[in-house]
Amino acid sequence: MDKEERKAYNKKYYIEHKATADAYNKKYYQDHKSERVAYNKAYNALHKTEIIVYNKAHSKEYKARYIMNRAISRGMLIKLEVCSNCNQGGKIEGHHEDYDKPLEVTWLCVQCHNLHHVERRGMRHDG
Ligand SMILES: [Zn+2]
Ligand SMILES: [Zn+2]
Repeated sequence: MDKEERKAYNKKYYIEHKATADAYNKKYYQDHKSERVAYNKAYNALHKTEIIVYNKAHSKEYKARYIMNRAISRGMLIKLEVCSNCNQGGKIEGHHEDYDKPLEVTWLCVQCHNLHHVERRGMRHDG
């Protein structure tokens, strides 16, 4: 193969290779795209359901906490500095026995608050 032949061969190889690569990439992209769309669709559906379920379970809790915090910042509600259960200081959290009564708050330290929810519901939450 002389120089010109090699040049022609390389050009031909490049064109063929490029066409093959393009075809492969196009196919891969299309396959990948459909997989990706299906995956995203499934993921979003799952994620959406999780969010709806989570919000449904926690919306009252969040609302109560929001109203409570707003009341505290406006001076309508006085946050106690000691736990109503064990009379200790430290980090005190507002606990709602009834989320429909956001301003009826029991002030508990983190330990008592966690314990309270563990005893009541078998899980920690933030209200
Ligand atoms: Zn609570
Ligand atoms: Zn306590």
